Amino acid sequence: MALNFSLDAHDTHTHARAGRMATAHGEVLTPAFMPVGTQGAVKTLTPDDLSAAGTDIILANTYHMYLRPGVETVRQMGGLHRFMSWDRAILTDSGGFQVLSMSELRKVSDRGVEFRSHLDGSRHFIGPEEAIRIQDGLGTDIAMSFDELVDLPAEPAVVKQSVDRTLDWAARGLAERERLRDQGRGAIALFGINQGGVDPAERRRCFDGLASMPFDGYALGGLWVGESKSLSLEMVEQDCARFPADRPRYLMGVGHPVDVLDAVARGVDMFDCVLPTRNARRGTVFVSTGRLVVKNAAYANDPRPLDPDCGCYTCRRFSRAYLRHLFAAGETLAMRLASLHAVTQLVGLARRARAAILEGSFREFREAFLTRFRSGETLIAAQGSSG
Ligand SMILES: [Zn+2]
Repeated sequence: MALNFSLDAHDTHTHARAGRMATAHGEVLTPAFMPVGTQGAVKTLTPDDLSAAGTDIILANTYHMYLRPGVETVRQMGGLHRFMSWDRAILTDSGGFQVLSMSELRKVSDRGVEFRSHLDGSRHFIGPEEAIRIQDGLGTDIAMSFDELVDLPAEPAVVKQSVDRTLDWAARGLAERERLRDQGRGAIALFGINQGGVDPAERRRCFDGLASMPFDGYALGGLWVGESKSLSLEMVEQDCARFPADRPRYLMGVGHPVDVLDAVARGVDMFDCVLPTRNARRGTVFVSTGRLVVKNAAYANDPRPLDPDCGCYTCRRFSRAYLRHLFAAGETLAMRLASLHAVTQLVGLARRARAAILEGSFREFREAFLTRFRSGETLIAAQGSSG
């Protein structure tokens, strides 16, 4: 197997677990947050920055790499790891989400998705087999099965069709990996994605189908896309109760610190989200006492770091006043320093959750984190008003 997952500890009060995955590019400790390197780069950050933040796995977007620079270029450059000079683990998404959300004139059928590139209008086709070949060509460590995501709310018949398609595509993706392995390729781990929106019966039916397939891990798909958070968490609970305990579980597209801990408590091992870094580039970051909008005038003369409790390079060296100035002046360093903090926060949160699970204190850790996160302390000057 391309992926060797083992569990180090279970929390006694919640379903939280601490595990580790051995990949060809080092060990990934879980719970893990994966910064998103959309186009082969986590915007503004170098691989050394990511390592300094404690990152041992990143996510790269198949759709973007496939369109530009193209799989053949990446393959000739020695694969995605060498191309971007990142020697730790990489997970690629299947491309399905971007194909459906970014491309133009797409046509979805049982065969796959026909679409036009958002870059130059050129015509392409990606189906479940192509998605596996592209990810294998990129040289990823963990590939994702091609799935169909529906926009919620959706009619029951639409949800049912997407589950049927996701199951068919899952089996075809696995078969394609087998074919590649027969040719001496296909060393990738492959995760199945559970769909079914927020319909408990459809999610159960989807997993009933996926469970009999030899996936290396399972992802929770189609959640946090607009439905209520309590409903999403119910689905997380239900999925985690049914997923096999000995395989990693990945909740796609979730990166709010509170949501991450809520999902860890329900047994999720892996996360990714573009929002923490996207927001950081626009001047909003999470700190241990909440959400800080560094552009606010209230910080113009604030000598404190973004987060006095954070040990990242940005917080060790720079004041809020300086960062606010950089954003106001349009200096690109602002985006880089804020991104560095944002990645450190999320990767570090998952790492601290892991330490607490190992110590048997996850429940206390989570409560203390939430109390402080909701306090708003340090966000404002002592006598100032809430920002
Ligand atoms: Zn920091």
